[in-house]
Amino acid sequence: MPEPRQIVTSERIRTVAVLIIDNPPVNALSHAERAGIQAGVNAAIADNAVKAIVLICAGRTFVAGADITEFGKPMKEPSLRAIIETIENSSKPVIAAMHGTALGGGLELALSCQFRVGAAEAKFGLPEVKLGILPGAGGTQRLPRLVGLRLALDMITTGEPIGARQARETGLIDDIATGDLRASAIAFAERVLRDHLPLRRVRDLSDKLKVPEADFFKTQRGALAKRRRGLEAPQACVDAVEAAATLPFEQGLKRERELFVNLLQGDQSKAQRYFFFAEREANKIPDVPADTPVKPIHKAAVLGAGTMGGGIAMNFANAGIPVTVVETDQKALDRGLGLVRKNYEISASRGGMSAEDIDRRMALIKASLSYDDIADADLVIEAVFEDMALKKEVFGKLDRIAKPDAILATNTSTLDVDEIAAATKRPQSVIGLHFFSPANVMRLLEIVRGAQSSKPVIASSMALAKTIRKVPVLVGVCDGFVGNRMLAQRGREAERLLIEGALPHQVDKVLTDFGFPMGPFAMGDLAGLDVGWRVRQARGTKAPIADALYEAGRLGQKTSGGYYHYEPGSRAPLPDPDVERIIVEVSKKLGVERRAISEPEMLERLVYPMINEGAKILDEGIALRPSDIDVIWIHGYGWPVYRGGPMHYADQVGLAKIRDRLADFAKRFREPALEPAPLLAQLAGEGRGFAEWRQPSRAAS
Ligand code: NAD
Repeated sequence: MPEPRQIVTSERIRTVAVLIIDNPPVNALSHAERAGIQAGVNAAIADNAVKAIVLICAGRTFVAGADITEFGKPMKEPSLRAIIETIENSSKPVIAAMHGTALGGGLELALSCQFRVGAAEAKFGLPEVKLGILPGAGGTQRLPRLVGLRLALDMITTGEPIGARQARETGLIDDIATGDLRASAIAFAERVLRDHLPLRRVRDLSDKLKVPEADFFKTQRGALAKRRRGLEAPQACVDAVEAAATLPFEQGLKRERELFVNLLQGDQSKAQRYFFFAEREANKIPDVPADTPVKPIHKAAVLGAGTMGGGIAMNFANAGIPVTVVETDQKALDRGLGLVRKNYEISASRGGMSAEDIDRRMALIKASLSYDDIADADLVIEAVFEDMALKKEVFGKLDRIAKPDAILATNTSTLDVDEIAAATKRPQSVIGLHFFSPANVMRLLEIVRGAQSSKPVIASSMALAKTIRKVPVLVGVCDGFVGNRMLAQRGREAERLLIEGALPHQVDKVLTDFGFPMGPFAMGDLAGLDVGWRVRQARGTKAPIADALYEAGRLGQKTSGGYYHYEPGSRAPLPDPDVERIIVEVSKKLGVERRAISEPEMLERLVYPMINEGAKILDEGIALRPSDIDVIWIHGYGWPVYRGGPMHYADQVGLAKIRDRLADFAKRFREPALEPAPLLAQLAGEGRGFAEWRQPSRAAS
């Protein structure tokens, strides 16, 4: 048997031992890597010829974190904490030489070194909070000692990294490498030896631990409770940093450990770690292998400069891709591009970008009234009115004008992508790219695979999503695709709750308490009640309360009243006695005796039907996996990340309970859509959860 490859190797340059960690792709702290570092450091300390140690990584980055696949399993020694103790107490200076991204456990490792040198493009961060935990190997205790409480707290509670310049200015690193990092770090080590610089341990520093203002921690907790509502980890991060400021180092470490273990064992971090893998899994499409040819998008075009078209165009300009926006009338074009500029100016006023940035981006967006201008586009996204006849006409035209290998995409929310594709002679080039509003902000992109969409067109669309910083999820063709199809279930039940006895603010409260940023009725007011009314008209369906409000001229925020009342200039929804009157009248007309409905019942009635629909979506092969549905709901609809998405949540509740409740609702409300879906019933019967289920064919539709 060949010798296993050594992850950590050592070289000696004069009196400096250079330990090289080589564990692709990101040098994550696996067990073998930890053992290698520990052995390497111990050997260098024991070697009389060695006077200083440089810790450096091969590949594209310094250690980018713990090995997350080891989470939740018993930690095999040596633990990261043990290595950190060895390095921190070393009698010889240890210098971390960092390039790429020094993140999480990687940065904690560097914080235990006596000195730190960074490459100019390196980034440094503690992103643990994004997984619902906190840095558990001393990061919360050492970072504030180097950079001060305010910046440390900011880095730890947001998880966002800082660059080399800021790291140097704030004391996180001691030097920025000029030229070759390895050579710079060795030179730095030799300077330490020559100048007899003292072996400064971060744990012994205290001058930056001064609390910057009275009530500092209380203010931070309050701000985080608003900004990261419902999340436990950011609050625990504040507790840990406060411990750094108020307790002796060893006690602070102990406190950090307790907080870490607590979070690690909790439901929130379980959900957030699940979601971390779910996002990555969504990129894999079983029948579209990773080596499928991808067409680069050098030029894009968007048809329609309305609500969606303008926002979609911004995504390309932001990514530096020229985009042509085509409209039928000059006024709509001017309005659309005016709005794009205004959106950029708002970002600029918040400090996000400069006047030159705006000009550069606007210069990438070309306005046109002629379809001939899309002839050289690699990708065309149609975002005209939601009207099948119009879409067919537009795709017929596209077929004549677009390059033979162009990707032809539709942003339709409700129409049949296959019918649209049939208007062309190249249905294999047609795909749905379903953006969410506001399209320049929302990360989700449902990629709708038509019956004939080719594999390269699918692979290219997935790759494009990454380029424009979206989160793509592949779905199949059906009414509403995945997200809106499940949303419709919730919408129907929300209306039913009003008829039975609830009021809009009571229903919305149940969902905001659950963790959604907004309930369905506040959302309805934001979108406009005319939107749903038009859809119902087109489909010949009814929603007695929504219809009554629409007919009373209550269209939502734009008319200062919908399900709520709005004071002039305010977006704060206020319960409105007029609305209550309208609702009570509708109940009466329908012969319903209104009753008080408990909050737990409301939650079940709103969420379980969505889960049920999710089960049908899986059974039909519209979504590839339960976790894809969760990615859609978290990125597109505000499902709280700490509850892991509807399908993960269902597993936590238990499918048998959901099945039984749905069966009861279906009977009570005589609603066939609430009958437990076959897949849900089957899994519940077998005592299994969605997490254990696999798509038999593993292909979307
Ligand atoms: P919108 O009414 O705001 O804009 C449509 C624009 O298309 C108008 O400016 C119109 O002048 C233009 N247009 C009409 N015919 C055209 C043609 N032949 N060529 C070029 N431009 C033409 O509509 P919207 O809300 O931006 O929706 C556009 C599409 O996106 C629809 O299919 C809709 O279902 C879908 N969508 C909307 C949302 C949303 O929240 N608004 C979300 C996802 C998807």
